[in-house]
Amino acid sequence: MQKITIAIDGYSSCGKSTLAKAIAQKINYNYIDTGAMYRAVTVYALRNNLINAKHKINEVELVAQLNRIDVAFHFNANTKSSETLLNGENIEKEIRTMLVNENVSKVSSIKEVREKMVALQRKMGKNKEVVLDGRDIGTNVFPDAELKLFMTADYDVRAQRRLDELSSKGQYFTHEEVKINLMQRDYDDTHRKENPLIKAKDAIVIDNTDLSREEQLEFVLKLITDMQLLVEKV
Ligand code: C5P
Repeated sequence: MQKITIAIDGYSSCGKSTLAKAIAQKINYNYIDTGAMYRAVTVYALRNNLINAKHKINEVELVAQLNRIDVAFHFNANTKSSETLLNGENIEKEIRTMLVNENVSKVSSIKEVREKMVALQRKMGKNKEVVLDGRDIGTNVFPDAELKLFMTADYDVRAQRRLDELSSKGQYFTHEEVKINLMQRDYDDTHRKENPLIKAKDAIVIDNTDLSREEQLEFVLKLITDMQLLVEKV
């Protein structure tokens, strides 16, 4: 029975993490939310005044302070979900704010930040049996991943999903504001120098504009089964 690595890349707010979590739960794999790691570094930079109101980052200082930034995950048995820790503090709520959304792509474009996070991701995923979602998993972090997915969806559908998520947490924005943020992040993520978001040649594209969560999960589980890669744990 083969242990595999599943890499899910794609644009912002395409439901990558929802799908990744569902797959991991179904086949009893670990899930690594690599976006949360860049978000955690962004929270550190914001808290330490290394980003100004115009989203300008003090890169030299942030890089100098990287050794003070410890990012980890903790599994909360009560909520049955993984939480992001920054230097031991649970920052799961703080990483999902619009302020972080607005700054994370700039932070993630810094070479040294990426080097540190990628090294950590490779360490966390080295034993396989893992699902990772992000922007450069199939192209850079685990280019040998056995299954690579690339997710996309219509902008308005994505903006509405993100808007619903934000408002369910008491954060209110307009559809337009959320859509502009998504477009800006996609632009930054696909145009940066360091490991930009691109589809790996061997990735399977999932456009979930008209797919329900259940339908896309079913599709991927069938892919795994068809590839005879489904691991039955004993
Ligand atoms: O996936 P999520 O939207 O939480 O990611 C937040 C940001 O982190 C992305 O917009 C991107 O700039 C960055 N990111 C990245 N590489 C990854 C995962 C996320 O650059 N592997």
